[in-house]
Amino acid sequence: MRQTIAGNWKMHGLTQDAASLATALLGAGPLTRDLLVCPPATQIAAVARILAGTPVAVGGQDCHSAVQGAFTGDISAAMLRDAGASHVILGHSERRQYHAESDDAVRAKVLAAQAAGLTAIVCVGENDAERQAGWETGVVGKQLNASLPDDFAGILAYEPVWAIGTGRTATEADVAAMHLFIRQTLVRRFGPAGEAFSILYGGSVRPANAASLLAVPHVGGALVGGASLKAEDFLGIARA
Ligand code: PEP
Repeated sequence: MRQTIAGNWKMHGLTQDAASLATALLGAGPLTRDLLVCPPATQIAAVARILAGTPVAVGGQDCHSAVQGAFTGDISAAMLRDAGASHVILGHSERRQYHAESDDAVRAKVLAAQAAGLTAIVCVGENDAERQAGWETGVVGKQLNASLPDDFAGILAYEPVWAIGTGRTATEADVAAMHLFIRQTLVRRFGPAGEAFSILYGGSVRPANAASLLAVPHVGGALVGGASLKAEDFLGIARA
């Protein structure tokens, strides 16, 4: 299975910045990995226009679970699709932390995304205190069981919260152990189909550490925050 390098641009940049970044990705040349960029919602349409017809897919960073309605400030999955997105990140730790998103809320969003024809990228991961206490597999197992619907057909991202934006990358051994645990959990729940889900790693991935992280068994690619804001770094990870 080809690995995916997904960039989460978070709440950075204006349309001109997004356009420059997307344009810089046009010159990537042939890659052995798939690319996906997830700009802020207001920039999805502009970025999708620039990347149309290229192998670089575009995604959202969140969506609402309802098809439509009186939800001021929210964006539906169909709206993301309409703007040119094919994917959506759901349950990112920053959504779980700052918007109190529960596993149930994430599962409802996954169902909405799938109904709208989007590929959901569901994020799971323990925080620092949970890892210090040795609870990481318990936390991630619970998130997986409750955040994924029975007909899940998307991508997973293991993102230890303590490694996001901190420069503290998980060790290859930690990544290997957790990705194996996630794989086993998926196979227990979904049967042989659980073998096919792609499981990205996210947390301070950089060009310098990408090759070793991407070589870990059961790592299906990377979800990249900070380093996705510079085309050179993002492409450096894709080529690592
Ligand atoms: C993220 O926000 O999903 C992320 C992995 O960020 P960073 O690469 O900056 O750690």
